[in-house]
Amino acid sequence: MPMIRRYQLPDEAATVALAVLLADRLQPGDALLLDGPLGAGKTCFARGLIRHLSREESTEVPSPSFNLVLTYDTPRATLWHFDLYRVNDPRELDELGLDDALREGITLIEWPDRLGSHAPATALTVTLSLTRDAAGPRQAELRGDTTWAARLSDLPVAFSYGADV
Ligand code: ADP
Ligand code: MG
Repeated sequence: MPMIRRYQLPDEAATVALAVLLADRLQPGDALLLDGPLGAGKTCFARGLIRHLSREESTEVPSPSFNLVLTYDTPRATLWHFDLYRVNDPRELDELGLDDALREGITLIEWPDRLGSHAPATALTVTLSLTRDAAGPRQAELRGDTTWAARLSDLPVAFSYGADV
């Protein structure tokens, strides 16, 4: 998928700010694939997004690494947060409600490489990467089809965190 935006994220607050920017543009049926290595900030991004859509800063958003999926009721849609790290075979996905999530929910998926053929074709991919080490800044790349490019066309080109956000 073509790249739509690339942002430098100097600290955790910047990761959350990007999550909030995207949260405001999501609608039922949307899926975000949160790609990137362990510790890149995928759960941090999901937590910021879920708290914003829940309108509740204190919502507990644990990593779903053991449950594989946790759901949240938000005013816009049910939010499904998957962490597929422990999925070894795409057949394990059958019982997790992925189809329901993709049809009517807002879906966030950590470790989307585990999806195999279940990967939704129309998802927006958010790739987070460590640019130096675990203490250093992160980089985010947004990739998606032309529909996503149009929907995100009003996002700032450079993420001047602290100024606009
Ligand atoms: P993942 O889910 O990708 O394994 P986490 O969301 O658990 O990663 O985040 C790991 C760590 O990265 C957390 O301690 C978080 O505070 C930190 N972090 C998130 N975003 C940034 C950032 N932009 N710069 C520096 N640290 C960050
Ligand atoms: Mg995580």
